[in-house]
Amino acid sequence: MTAEEIITKLGHKGVKATANRILVYRMLEESDRPVSLADMERLNLSMDKSSIFRVLTLFLEHDVVHSFEDGRGILNYELCRSDGKCSQSDNHVHFYCESCQRSFCLDDIHIHDIPLPDGFYAHSLSFVVKGECAECRRKNHNQ
Ligand SMILES: [Zn+2]
Ligand SMILES: [Zn+2]
Ligand SMILES: [Zn+2]
Repeated sequence: MTAEEIITKLGHKGVKATANRILVYRMLEESDRPVSLADMERLNLSMDKSSIFRVLTLFLEHDVVHSFEDGRGILNYELCRSDGKCSQSDNHVHFYCESCQRSFCLDDIHIHDIPLPDGFYAHSLSFVVKGECAECRRKNHNQ
């Protein structure tokens, strides 16, 4: 994705583009899995942890990214799949591998509306399956 395209995407979410914001967006875009703050710090040597965190906090407020707790209780971040206004339908299930500690999107498994008791209102929901990913399972059981 070019910087121009990222600026447009951010604009649709009501976020003004800055160099750091474009950097963080690109990092998330290039990752094929959800990443934690520590992962991002490792990937991005030109920004310190608190700067990355500030951008992520702003992105969360504007639905540029979504977060969920992986199996360790650590937040993982991924880009919102909707352009502009976010719809609840981009909710999907995640898988957390307890062996390699990576998170995966299970895009084809959607979380549909969960019926809540009267008067309750959900802002977000997440569903994380914990176990072993295919790669680890092969490795751990074939030696
Ligand atoms: Zn969204
Ligand atoms: Zn694994
Ligand atoms: Zn995901």
